Amino acid sequence: MSETPTLSDAEILSLQKIEAAPRQSMPPMKPMKPMKLMQPMQPMQPMKMGDMEMSMNPMQMRMGNMSMAMGSTSSTTSGKSFCPQCGVTVQPSDRFCSSCVHQL
Ligand SMILES: [Zn+2]
Repeated sequence: MSETPTLSDAEILSLQKIEAAPRQSMPPMKPMKPMKLMQPMQPMQPMKMGDMEMSMNPMQMRMGNMSMAMGSTSSTTSGKSFCPQCGVTVQPSDRFCSSCVHQL
């Protein structure tokens, strides 16, 4: 009777609650490290990219040439003609491809 004479039930409850509550309160906020790892981002070496582009260009040019050589039929020299459809060699005098009967 001498211990807590003035505590009401509500107060006791609240006290118990506080005591029973596991310490889930957030731990002292540690200062988040600013992402310093991302900072030293070095710009991509433009020189290398340039090299790649330069090395890719000849390839495209080559491919273009190849397609041109294959596509060009009657404009080729030496009087040889190629069927634009199947690419087989045809005679300049031929009106139709002997292979796919494509009209020349
Ligand atoms: Zn043909």
